[in-house]
Amino acid sequence: MSRLPRHDILFEPVQIGPKTLRNRFYQVPHCTGFGVEKPWTQAAFRGMKAEGGWAAVCTEYCSISAETDESPYVSARLWDEEDARALRLMTEEAHRHGALAGVELWHGGLYAETRESRLPPIAPSQLSSDFDGITVPRVMTAADIRRVQEEWVAAALRSRDAGFDIVYVYGSHTYLPTQFLSPVYNRRTDRYGGSFENRSRFWLEAIELVRDAVGGDCAIAVRIAADTLEGSGVELAEGLEFIRRADPMVDLWDVTIGALSGWQRVDSGPSRFFEQGYQLEWSGQARRATAKPIVVVGRFTDPDRMAEVVRGGTVDLIGAARPSISDPFLPRKIEEGRYDEVRECIGCNACYSRSIWGRHLGCTQNATAGEEHRRGWHPERFDRAENAEKTALVVGAGPAGMECAIVLAKRGLELVHLVDADGDIGGCLQWVTRLPGLGEWGRLIDYRRVQMERLPNLQFVPGMRLDAAGVREYGADIAIVATGARWNADGMNGITRAPIAGAGEGLAHVLTPEQVMVEGLRPPGSRVCVIDYEGYFTGAGIAEVLRAEGREVELLTCFDLVAHYCDQTLEGVRLRRRLHDLGVGAHRAATATGIDPQGVDAADEFGRPFRIDCDGVVMVAQRGSDDALHRALADDPDALAAAGVDQVHAIGDCVAPRLIADAIFDGHRLAREIDSPDPSRPLPYLRERPLV
Ligand code: ADP
Ligand code: SF4
Repeated sequence: MSRLPRHDILFEPVQIGPKTLRNRFYQVPHCTGFGVEKPWTQAAFRGMKAEGGWAAVCTEYCSISAETDESPYVSARLWDEEDARALRLMTEEAHRHGALAGVELWHGGLYAETRESRLPPIAPSQLSSDFDGITVPRVMTAADIRRVQEEWVAAALRSRDAGFDIVYVYGSHTYLPTQFLSPVYNRRTDRYGGSFENRSRFWLEAIELVRDAVGGDCAIAVRIAADTLEGSGVELAEGLEFIRRADPMVDLWDVTIGALSGWQRVDSGPSRFFEQGYQLEWSGQARRATAKPIVVVGRFTDPDRMAEVVRGGTVDLIGAARPSISDPFLPRKIEEGRYDEVRECIGCNACYSRSIWGRHLGCTQNATAGEEHRRGWHPERFDRAENAEKTALVVGAGPAGMECAIVLAKRGLELVHLVDADGDIGGCLQWVTRLPGLGEWGRLIDYRRVQMERLPNLQFVPGMRLDAAGVREYGADIAIVATGARWNADGMNGITRAPIAGAGEGLAHVLTPEQVMVEGLRPPGSRVCVIDYEGYFTGAGIAEVLRAEGREVELLTCFDLVAHYCDQTLEGVRLRRRLHDLGVGAHRAATATGIDPQGVDAADEFGRPFRIDCDGVVMVAQRGSDDALHRALADDPDALAAAGVDQVHAIGDCVAPRLIADAIFDGHRLAREIDSPDPSRPLPYLRERPLV
């Protein structure tokens, strides 16, 4: 198979200052949680993308000094030579695979929380951070301004010496340079505040100094929000004017939109609210101000759309963070015409929720993301299992079961049967993807369906419900249970640590999400209360479904915010706005004390009782593992031995109900280690820690 000629344009080289990008695929800076704390993980993670064909791979935001320390969030750092040594591992990996390496030098200004360094944050003016009202920054003096610019230069020199090809003077996302540029953040009356000329001075000078220092060796990139959108003060006209003024000093424009927080936060837009290419409306306008190469993001995974965007002339490079996490080999697959093998990002932002807060990046679609170094996993290569002569039966074709069966088959097992009581693969995804805005999550199934069709040793058996005897009689050597989880009908939950009085199975006025979405049941009457003690997508999604059908919907949550976990996936602000606009009522920081056919008794955070009159309830309290099959098998080892089954394992939600990303990871992990001494116990992974 070869690629379509209309995609050739994506593989043209692009000159940026003294450097050449081998094609138009550009991994823009994005968070990982690795920074310089996990230098080998960082190097292997970015290096994998370089191997997969990206022309450039960049670090996450990279702090230039202790005054811009954002602990406990994890950024990269270039404070000294040791940091440079750590990041050199990454540039070497990038170069080994023919990619350029970029570093996003960063100063957060008032947004640097400095919880490690304990230095006061500095900013153009004394306005507190909208994230952290208890810290108010120190106003920068003229000497501070010059010092920060010099620190930027010093970090740029370290970057060059560490082997970076592209050096950023990063200013978007309302960080320090934009804080100077914005009349909202910048209230100065000296030559760095007031007129546009004055407000742009800090950033222009910094770019000039960095260019003078490293411009002969490195490409100079600037990341800017074409429009910071409402409330942050740099509108399109000024954004474009800044680009015009800085343009002679810049080799590559990395254009975003929006600000760091709140309603204006449109970067890393989740698929729930943003379609592929969603930033172009603003970022595409940068061409009016520059003829230099422009890179924009927009969750691009469709090569037709990419080629169209480049051909249209507004953009030169296809920027990607999430599509490169989900498929590090996206460019190679397109280059080789392997279009249906692309593991398309679903826009769920689980990666974001797992990276920046000092955790370890993970991806729903790509279980190997972040595991390249510590577990030695390659997204496209699978060693033949030492016990490949075995056959395996996987019961349950949800996320965990699908992934496990595919990886087992790729590891060359003689025969893998994936069995499900349902008529199709997908498990819980079959109904989750029907919740409003979550259709793109169906790519989790689409990708795996294609993979399964290509594996001759993998067979899907639909419409078969197996009990323990059925599993034993099936004839496989290895049995893997992936039967998932179900929402509790009795309201048992970890908040009150008790069921809810009056709730339970078999009641017409108390339904679970599966009963609503799979069985199509509806609570009687027109008034419904959704009780949400989970705070992720299910409660809000069900509320929206029922509201769209014309019901009066009240959502009761024990948390201070509706769907609070969605704040970690950058969906929360918009999701709450949507529920509000639809007319869904919200009761926050409350617990249900009893349910009857006429309503819900509840208590507020101080224990004061109140009542919600309604005709029925949907119970989104907690899921319980469907582990009966696994227990029945594991509890009778003699029967297993007699049937010739030598291994039984459980994976995914039937072990513990967690994120879809975790279920997929669990299935992948078991299959990668199916030939280990005890596959049910994960092998230790490499840890990066200071040696004592
Ligand atoms: P996970 O998220 O852990 O992958 P899901 O809940 O999405 O789990 O999927 C579990 C799948 O297992 C569902 O498709 C369900 O139909 C199937 N299943 C559950 N019990 C059995 C069984 N005894 N035999 C066959 N299939 C089963
Ligand atoms: Fe895309 Fe979700 Fe993976 Fe992030 S976690 S890269 S949003 S699929």
